[in-house]
Amino acid sequence: MTTFTAHAPNRPTMPASRAGSADPVVSLANPRGLEAVSETRMVSDGDGVPIRRVLPSRVATFNMVDPFLLLDEYRVPPPSPNGGGGFPPHPHRGFEIVTYLLEGTEKHMDSAGHTTLLRTGGAQRITTGSGMWHAEESDTGVRGLQLWVNLAQADKRVAPSYRLAEPEELPVRAFGDAHARIIAGEGSPLSLITPATYHDVVIQGGGAAVLPVPTGWQGFVYVLSGAGVFGPDRQQLQAGQFAALGAGDSLPVVAAPGGTRFMLGAALPHREPVRWNGPYVD
Ligand code: FE
Repeated sequence: MTTFTAHAPNRPTMPASRAGSADPVVSLANPRGLEAVSETRMVSDGDGVPIRRVLPSRVATFNMVDPFLLLDEYRVPPPSPNGGGGFPPHPHRGFEIVTYLLEGTEKHMDSAGHTTLLRTGGAQRITTGSGMWHAEESDTGVRGLQLWVNLAQADKRVAPSYRLAEPEELPVRAFGDAHARIIAGEGSPLSLITPATYHDVVIQGGGAAVLPVPTGWQGFVYVLSGAGVFGPDRQQLQAGQFAALGAGDSLPVVAAPGGTRFMLGAALPHREPVRWNGPYVD
């Protein structure tokens, strides 16, 4: 296991807040570790779109990440002269989808009458509920993340709904040396029925942070670029790796000298059986 020493304080006294941070002091009573580190694999879907499938994972089982069902990092290549590529119309029901664009633009159309254009740094929430068709295509080529969050049995039949968030609408908060863009959850215009947060976190080389992750929620980290060490045992994760988080109230992170960028998701688990049937989760 590699450890990075720059700015890395000895546990358990990692500073929760630094000068200039807007974040209140976070208790480090119970820092979370990494419970299951998983490599991701390449699959393809839609119009042959290459996808790095992060979840489901054999290593990070659903019980560890409930209510998160699926996480894909997809790349729609620039289109041929015949038109845009992407995901032709298809149905879903029983969960919520958060799409976050890392590069490019993407058109969204759905059976509830929404036609929108997502831009780099923007996001959308689709509550598929009792059922919805949608299509996604790109004229530019696009790199994005799609996250599926299960609905509780009591909410499976809610009416479908949709919300677009422009990049400027997503707040950025500082936690120590980290800058977290809040895609969903507190402060974001995108809220899920299942209590959840979803952050795009950037830490410059050698920087340290303690990120709050509510007690009782289950969480994950997926590294987009660079590397860092996470948790009280300073386990290394690098680009393309995923980890389920152990129990606790916060996540200590120290970035590698080249810095790191990762997605941090956390949500209240439903602890209910899941009946998964392709695009439907009942
Ligand atoms: Fe879909």
